Amino acid sequence: MTRTNPATEESLSSVASHDDDDVEAALATASETFRTWRDTDLRERRRLLEATADVLRDRTDEFARLATKEMGKPIDGARAEVEKCAWVCDHYAERAPEYLADEPVGTETEAESFVATEPLGPVLAVMPWNYPFWQVFRFIAPNLVAGNVGILKHASNVPECALAIESILREAGFPEDVFQTLVVDSDRVDAMITDDRIRAVTLTGSEPAGRAVGEAAGKELKPSVLELGGSDPFVVLDDADIEAAAAVGARARTLNSGQSCIAAKRFIVHADVYDAFLDSFVAEMESLTVGDPTDPDTDIGPQARADLVDDLHEQVTATVEAGGTVETGGEPLDRTGYFYPPTVVTDVPPDAPLASEEVFGPAAAVFRVESEAEAVALANDSALGLAGSVWTEDLRRGQAVARRIESGAVFVNELAKSDPRLPFGGIKNSGYGRELAEQGLKAFCNEKTVWVQ
Ligand code: NDP
Repeated sequence: MTRTNPATEESLSSVASHDDDDVEAALATASETFRTWRDTDLRERRRLLEATADVLRDRTDEFARLATKEMGKPIDGARAEVEKCAWVCDHYAERAPEYLADEPVGTETEAESFVATEPLGPVLAVMPWNYPFWQVFRFIAPNLVAGNVGILKHASNVPECALAIESILREAGFPEDVFQTLVVDSDRVDAMITDDRIRAVTLTGSEPAGRAVGEAAGKELKPSVLELGGSDPFVVLDDADIEAAAAVGARARTLNSGQSCIAAKRFIVHADVYDAFLDSFVAEMESLTVGDPTDPDTDIGPQARADLVDDLHEQVTATVEAGGTVETGGEPLDRTGYFYPPTVVTDVPPDAPLASEEVFGPAAAVFRVESEAEAVALANDSALGLAGSVWTEDLRRGQAVARRIESGAVFVNELAKSDPRLPFGGIKNSGYGRELAEQGLKAFCNEKTVWVQ
């Protein structure tokens, strides 16, 4: 595959792909390694995760620059991503004894019964390019500490990040085949899922990719976790702190240059505060610096690939043709690199792409609603259900609205974000299963009932 630096359009060196023999060797060694890894003392598994966090922290800048080069992430965000990977390693190193402990369950007085948590085996991870380190480490940390082994098929545009991750784990001291990267095309994934040696699969990415992987896993009766797109609502109620909502809303939409599954995408604003919010929000969006992702002052870098800018612009254009009004932005920037400006569109009809599809770039749709009930109804009028955000000065009201929003997470007076301590995942077409926290660790474990009479 030809790869380019998305900020400069310069070609990136090609990375050798793995062939059929390599895939076979990886599956064989993963299966073999699982037998010893699962019985490796938990203290050792935890120590290796701590060592991994040290490698990540020692070489943060190097890994961050790799992400910036391959997919255009602004450098400050890239550094923060690598540091977050160290955090998720530390989290599971610390909490694994509690998450993996037997859970006694009271049954008959003369019996001892409990639930034991045991690993399943080699797990295939199909991962996206938008957080090329974080998406993988949030898989690695819980699974490796639980005793599973991992095989990574990373997105085709970030192979250097993929190979760096394998080398990080080896440098930390993990046995070689506990985690392996395969540089292969997505058309090899189906055969890997079908292979007996793969026991489960997780995918983060688009809905079509999720459907393909979910179907293959279902056919093979293998557990899967799918973390797909979002069209997250950002609900601003009539009693919200408008300045704060506008400032955080602009950040929530443009995080990672807008390429985040949990970015706020649909801004649903009460009529009483609509004009004030729109003015502030447009001003906040216009104040963001678009440009060179290696410059720490840049807020928004390029989109990761040329085709992604084309898709984004098509969504904006189709929305405008359907009746939408561009308040700011709306045209790709005329410069080298795949740059799209912060864009705000109002008067968005319900069937237009900015209302009904995942928008993976810095383009926001703003809707006016007359009541809280209408806000909730519009928030839920989506095939997706990943996360959401609600803004109100009345925290009880915020909680009540949060409970009525159909999604895997809702944040009140805060932007939606992932946190190793909290489960992460969606409902509806955003996928199923959970990553992170105790739930994420148990997603690929056998929760075994043991009864001793
Ligand atoms: P994809 O979903 O195509 O890619 C994500 C991962 O899935 C990659 O490793 C990809 O491999 C792999 N993949 C793709 N198709 C299949 C398949 N049929 N079977 C198995 N694996 C597959 O995302 P794109 O990069 O094309 O981005 C398109 C859109 O997807 C974005 O605009 C965004 O809307 C959404 N997306 C959502 C993400 C999220 O965090 N939820 C992350 C990335 C994208 P390969 O790269 O080799 O094709």
